[in-house]
Amino acid sequence: MLYSEGVTILENVELAQYTTLGVGGSARWFVETGDEEEMLAAVRFARAEGVQCFVLGGGSNLLVSDEGFNGVVLRIANDTLAVHALKDSAAVLVEADAGVEWDAVVRAAVEKNAAGIECLAGIPGSVGGTPVQNVGAYGQEVASAIYQVHAIDLEAERRVRFSQEECGFAYRRSIFNTTRKGRYVITHVQYHLNIGQRPHIEYRDVKTYFEQHGVARPTLAETAAAVREIRARKGMLLVADDADSRSAGSFFKNPVVAVDELARLAAIAGCRVADVPQFPAGWGYEPEDCMVKLSAAWLIELAGFSKGFAMGRAGLSTKHVLAIVNRGGATAAEIVALRDAVIEGVRARTAVRLEQEPVLLGFAG
Ligand SMILES: Cc1cc2nc3c(=O)[nH]c(=O)nc-3n(C[C@H](O)[C@H](O)[C@H](O)COP(=O)(O)OP(=O)(O)OC[C@H]3O[C@@H](n4cnc5c(N)ncnc54)[C@H](O)[C@@H]3O)c2cc1C
Repeated sequence: MLYSEGVTILENVELAQYTTLGVGGSARWFVETGDEEEMLAAVRFARAEGVQCFVLGGGSNLLVSDEGFNGVVLRIANDTLAVHALKDSAAVLVEADAGVEWDAVVRAAVEKNAAGIECLAGIPGSVGGTPVQNVGAYGQEVASAIYQVHAIDLEAERRVRFSQEECGFAYRRSIFNTTRKGRYVITHVQYHLNIGQRPHIEYRDVKTYFEQHGVARPTLAETAAAVREIRARKGMLLVADDADSRSAGSFFKNPVVAVDELARLAAIAGCRVADVPQFPAGWGYEPEDCMVKLSAAWLIELAGFSKGFAMGRAGLSTKHVLAIVNRGGATAAEIVALRDAVIEGVRARTAVRLEQEPVLLGFAG
C-alpha cells in the first residue's frame, strides 16, 4: 500500500472479485473513493507512473484479462441518491451518485410513482455505468430518462456536465464508450422522470407476463417486479445461488441492420420475414434510416449453439444463449475462445457479424 496526495493506493488487487463474471488477474494499483479530489489524485498518480487509469463501477459489463491490468483502477464509491419534485410540474429529478447501485434508483423512482425507467429494473451495476453504454431492456433505454451527466474531465482536470443531446446516445452507445472513451469519470447523473405516467409495456415478454397473470392495467411497481421476475427466469438478474448469473449479461449486442436484410435471413432460417425476430432500431436512428434491430440470441441459435453449450469452463447460460457464463474457475482466455466460436459460427451461417458488449480490460491491443 502507498499514499499519494493523501490517497490510499493499494497494490496488486485481484479484480475478479469486483466483476460479475469473476475472472481475470490483478490491477497493479487500485484506488476506491467517493471523493472527487481523491479521484483526481488517482488520475495524477497514474499519469506520473505513465500508466492508464480505468474507472470501475459495478464490474457487470467487464471482462478482465488473465494477465490483469498494469495501471490504476479507480473504483467509484460515492453513494448519494435523492428524488426532487419539480415545481409546477408532474416530473421529478432523480439525482444519483455514480457509485449508487442502479436498481436502487429504479426502486426509488417506482416508489415515487415516477415513470421512465421501470423496465430497466434489475440491471446490475452502478449509476455511473448507465450512460456509458446507454443501458436498455424491454423496450426502454436510459437515454430517454437522462437529463444531465456530471463528470470530471481527466485531461483538463475540471468538472464538466453533459446534456442528453451531448451524450451522443444510440443503441448501447454514447460518447463515453466511443469518441471520448476513457476521458471522463462520471460522478453523478440526473434523470428526468414523469409522475403518474403509465408503464412502458412494449415487449412481448412483459405483455405475455401480464396476460398470464390477468393484469389489465399494471402499475409501475408491478411492471418493475414483472421485469425482475422475467430477468430471473433468464439468468439476467444477479442471484447468489444461480450459476447462470455469473456473467456479464448479454455478451453480444443485438445487431442493427438494414431492413432489406430480413428477407435474406428469413430465407436462411426457412421462415417468413415476419417471423424473424425484429425490434425498432432505437435511439440514434430515424424511421427513414430503414434500420431494424435483430435478436442476437435468434442468430446464435440459428448458427447451431444451444443453451448450456460449453467450451471448457466457459459456457452459454442454460437459460439464455446471449450470456457467457463462468461455470467455475474459467479463465478470461476460455471466455474469449467461446466468444470467438460464437461470432465465427454466426458469421459462417448468416454473414452477420456479432459485436461483443462487455468492455475488455488488460488485453493487448
Ligand atoms: C446479469 C446481468 C444482466 C445484465 N443486463 C443488462 C441489460 O438488460 N441491459 C444492459 O444494457 N446491460 C445489462 N448488463 C450489463 C451491465 O449491467 C450494464 O452495462 C451496467 O450499466 C454496467 O455498469 P457497471 O457499473 O457494472 O460498469 P462496469 O462494468 O464497472 O464498467 C463498464 C464500463 O463503464 C465504465 N464506467 C463505469 N462507471 C463509470 C463512471 N463512474 N465513470 C466513467 N466510466 C464508468 C467503465 O470504465 C467501463 O468502460 C447486465 C449485466 C449482468 C451481469
